[in-house]
Amino acid sequence: MTNIILLGPPGAGKGTQARHLVETRGMTQLSTGDMLRDAQSSGTEMGKKVAAIMAEGKLVTDQIVIGLIREKLLVGSEGGFIFDGFPRTLPQADALQKLLLEMELKLDAVVEMQVDDEALVARVTGRSTCGGCGEVYHDVTKPWPADGACSNCGSTEVKRRADDNEESLKTRLMEYYKKTSPLIGYYYAKGTLQRIDGLASIDDVQKSIAWILGK
Ligand code: AMP
Repeated sequence: MTNIILLGPPGAGKGTQARHLVETRGMTQLSTGDMLRDAQSSGTEMGKKVAAIMAEGKLVTDQIVIGLIREKLLVGSEGGFIFDGFPRTLPQADALQKLLLEMELKLDAVVEMQVDDEALVARVTGRSTCGGCGEVYHDVTKPWPADGACSNCGSTEVKRRADDNEESLKTRLMEYYKKTSPLIGYYYAKGTLQRIDGLASIDDVQKSIAWILGK
């Protein structure tokens, strides 16, 4: 059982790689972004509370996301957890360490996916996902099939995130550099940090992660 964190700015490819690890290794993806979007679409009080913050590109409170992660960790996972978009602040990282300790789990690696800002703008602003299976598409690099049906599951539901626009992305990047990038030093000091080139092809990034995971 392996537990890893995928660390990187919005658009670095964390979600794409997490999906691959779920499919190939039976790991469990814990994306706090997905959990918060689910809360919004099911109309919970918490979902309503965070909607405006997320649309703007700001971070929601540590307390909310730590609570979400705690619930999922309690469920357990045979294949291990992939933390995708969590932790995003130093208090979240400390809280995760405590939770893992409580549950007698260990963190095997923190994979920092390095990409430059210009690539991120292009990646994020053209992004869409399939409403049926979550497959990720991009207007330029991976357009939807001509018949409009997802090549993975056949669904025709195209989803675009409310915060995948240039304005929100600027705020999201600023939040990343101010609040999340200190985690790079934090995990480096703990000896768990691994850096990979997030601009490489999806296949090559998959290989780098597989190498880190030791298989
Ligand atoms: P993501 O899907 O990871 O890009 O997250 C989308 C949005 O959800 C972020 O811009 C934040 O508003 C919120 N969010 C997701 N994860 C966290 C987190 N760990 N801490 C605070 N806010 C988060």
